[in-house]
Amino acid sequence: MMRIHMYFCILIALICTAGCNQPASQSSSGTHPALYATLYQQQAAEYRALCYQAFAVAGFTLDAALATPHEKPLAVVVDIDETVLDNSPYQAQAIIEGFGYPVAWAEWIDLAEAESVPGALDFLTRASKAGVEVFYITNRKEEFRAATLQNLVKLGFPDADDTHLLMRTASNEKESRRLSVASQYEIVCLIGDNMGDFAGVFDTTDASLRMQAVDDNRGNLGSKWIVLPNVVYGHWVDILSGFDRNLPEDSLNAALIQGLHGFNRTNTP
Ligand SMILES: [Mg+2]
Repeated sequence: MMRIHMYFCILIALICTAGCNQPASQSSSGTHPALYATLYQQQAAEYRALCYQAFAVAGFTLDAALATPHEKPLAVVVDIDETVLDNSPYQAQAIIEGFGYPVAWAEWIDLAEAESVPGALDFLTRASKAGVEVFYITNRKEEFRAATLQNLVKLGFPDADDTHLLMRTASNEKESRRLSVASQYEIVCLIGDNMGDFAGVFDTTDASLRMQAVDDNRGNLGSKWIVLPNVVYGHWVDILSGFDRNLPEDSLNAALIQGLHGFNRTNTP
């Protein structure tokens, strides 16, 4: 009887321990809204392939620019997060521990341990060796300048210095910073994971306008504009969540489901 009681206590303890290890962020459905997306970035060979593909296309654009006469010096403009630096460990830890952005974001940046997005370092190194300058236009805050440079330098990214790093200004828009680069350089291509990395027209809260702007700019895609995949975060999901990054998970899931387009079934169960 004593032994049975002991086994019962151990069983209860194990159940409690298992429960305590569940991320606090889990919604009632048991699935974090960004679980699949984060796993895609960390585990899918397809994500890695898409990144290589994007930078391969950028390479074609670079070759064409180098073969064409130009009056101003050449430059490539890149975003940083999910374009040259992979922040998926931050998102993964957020899911594991159950916190939301911006909790621990400063801690992650200060570590300066982000790896290169696949293909980014190779492409920018090649561009630099060909005499093309690299400008980093990021919406990281000015307070993260030193840690950001440290991370880029540690990985060996070219032009990782104050002159070539343009941090967030008063607003998130990047158009003014792009124009300042374009005033002195001929921009070979823009590379980013958020359409706001390419043109100001995408800085809208209207998803249909953003879609239309993509259609209107098809000629730039794969030439002047090189897009990296980011299914974890971005302007697209901010629109769905009402730009509230602190929504409780159940509310966020409800908002996301509102964005689904299904079909009218003729044979309903
Ligand atoms: Mg980005």
